[in-house]
Amino acid sequence: MQITDLRSDTVTKPTPGMLQAMFSAEVGDDVYGEDASVNALESKTAALFGMEAGLFCPSGTMTNQIAIKVHTQPLTEVICDITAHIYQYEGGGIAFNSAASMALVHGTRGKMTPQQVEAHIRPPDNIHFPETKLVALENTCNKGGGTYYSIEEIAAISRVCRRHQLALHLDGARVFNALAASGDSAQDYGRYFDSISVCLSKGLGAPVGSVLLGSSGFVNRARRVRKVLGGGMRQAGYLAAACIYALDHHVERLQEDHRKAKELEAALLQTDYVESVLPVETNIVIFRLNAVYSDKAFVDALASKGIRAASFGPQMVRFVTHLDVTEQMLQHTLQVLQALSRTPVTTA
Ligand SMILES: *Cc1c(COP(=O)(O)O)cnc(C)c1O
Repeated sequence: MQITDLRSDTVTKPTPGMLQAMFSAEVGDDVYGEDASVNALESKTAALFGMEAGLFCPSGTMTNQIAIKVHTQPLTEVICDITAHIYQYEGGGIAFNSAASMALVHGTRGKMTPQQVEAHIRPPDNIHFPETKLVALENTCNKGGGTYYSIEEIAAISRVCRRHQLALHLDGARVFNALAASGDSAQDYGRYFDSISVCLSKGLGAPVGSVLLGSSGFVNRARRVRKVLGGGMRQAGYLAAACIYALDHHVERLQEDHRKAKELEAALLQTDYVESVLPVETNIVIFRLNAVYSDKAFVDALASKGIRAASFGPQMVRFVTHLDVTEQMLQHTLQVLQALSRTPVTTA
């Protein structure tokens, strides 16, 4: 049976073209700074986002954790939305790596307003409080159902940060999805963020890798932290070549993933077992089931038809579209979603 894997956009496998690029990569020892492909990826990604320098890392968790480590000291605090990956899904790494605390904002579908950010800044001259140092945004917001910040919203939060001398970090695990949906330019991001984590192994389809962007000084310090975390890789150019290929070939097609996610949303809204769907903005579809199925029963029912989905909490399920979800897989999924309805839709 053909498997349609909608659990995450991390499940993609390298395409033949990407494998070819990997096989023919020019490599060297990247800890010595001698890997041409890594150097090319770092400068290409930095240029794309209007930033000075980049640092290739094995994962988005590492790029986020390094950025937070460089921006903070112990006894300082990071402001982020309560749904943020850096808080929910990085194993408590901020406490472990940076000994910093977190101020959690109850935003809307993962997004904070400038007013909410400002309201969480601690009074700087009161020793009872941790010292606010960093604000971290996530774009798109995973737990928010793939919502995105527009450049105007980013600019407004950036103004709050500048006014209070706070650094602004972006967890851009799906930043290219945000750019595809908003039409904003990557170049503009460099004006507002002090650091950006860009993931190449999600929607862009590379097997491994994220790039951390910032000023040259920031990236020099980040390089030291990467080394101490064990992230100094040697002939990493084979991986970097896949990332370069992904940037060159897999950005333009993201709209297609968004269109497929919209079709899944529409099909779910036609069924009798879905209570609600978070309005789809990019490639993530999060929905709540009514009492007809539990999330586990529903995920199992899909699995029996060759469709893999992620249970996302009680009665909640997540689909993510990506490079390896073909048109034919989408059609199969749409049919299965309809068939799982107890009262199949009748067309007049
Ligand atoms: C996937 C993801 C990351 C990083 O994940 P890794 O698996 O460590 O590469 C960071 N932030 C968000 C929002 C993500 O979805």
